[in-house]
Amino acid sequence: MKTWDDLKYSTISVYRNNEIAEGAYLLSFKRNFNFVAGQVVALGVTPTIAPRLYSIASGENDEFIEILYSEKLDGSLTPMLSLLKPGDNLMVSEPFGTFTQTSKSDVYIAAGTGIAPFMSRIRSAKAENPTVIHGASYPEFFYYNKEFENFGRNYIRCCSRCSDDQLFQGRVTDYVKQWSNLDPNKKYYLCGSAEMVVETRDALIAKGVPFANINAEIYF
Ligand SMILES: Cc1cc2nc3c(=O)[nH]c(=O)nc-3n(C[C@H](O)[C@H](O)[C@H](O)COP(=O)(O)OP(=O)(O)OC[C@H]3O[C@@H](n4cnc5c(N)ncnc54)[C@H](O)[C@@H]3O)c2cc1C
Repeated sequence: MKTWDDLKYSTISVYRNNEIAEGAYLLSFKRNFNFVAGQVVALGVTPTIAPRLYSIASGENDEFIEILYSEKLDGSLTPMLSLLKPGDNLMVSEPFGTFTQTSKSDVYIAAGTGIAPFMSRIRSAKAENPTVIHGASYPEFFYYNKEFENFGRNYIRCCSRCSDDQLFQGRVTDYVKQWSNLDPNKKYYLCGSAEMVVETRDALIAKGVPFANINAEIYF
């Protein structure tokens, strides 16, 4: 992990930091840089804690940068992030990252907070007829579900621990494994934990998707 000395960053006032589901927060601050949908920023509250990376969830032209994060109770940074109030200082790096490619009718597959870069693409008007497949343990963790529902009909929620007829029962990997009319020529974008990305990539390859058609952003 880089240190703050390796990064260009500024200290910005928090605008909002709201808990939207148990342990999940939307943090926002005024945008003072340009970015490309899919990029990340490093965040911090003190230089003594190494920077952690977060996908930008807002649109490229939005007034505020929005970050969706989940608190790791035994983590170093997120328990401190969760205490931030409007007006508090936040260290924010310049944006960077290459998870930014787009083409027509892409397939986005995310678990948990990994949905954020795809929200950014949609809010930036860079997503043309995408299929969005989101995995979560309980219904309240389908972040941005209203926006995705309003955006298009190819929105599939995979719920691993609930029994709601409107939702696919199981994880995103279970969905991919039973997906009969999957198009191997589309581009597949995966975002989530290393385990989720590797399992999903293997399931896609087993369905005939070429490796070159799979792009991933791993949250570690
Ligand atoms: C490209 C990228 C984008 C990301 N985007 C997001 C995002 O949009 N939203 C989001 O919520 N997260 C995102 N993450 C994850 C984020 O950067 C942090 O890792 C996460 O928020 C946890 O930070 P923390 O300091 O609270 O926990 P950490 O202190 O980093 O700990 C995380 C977990 O690892 C365990 N751990 C720590 N050190 C060790 C060790 N030595 N051995 C074993 N276990 C250990 C801890 O107990 C804890 O459970 C992203 C990561 C990457 C790489």
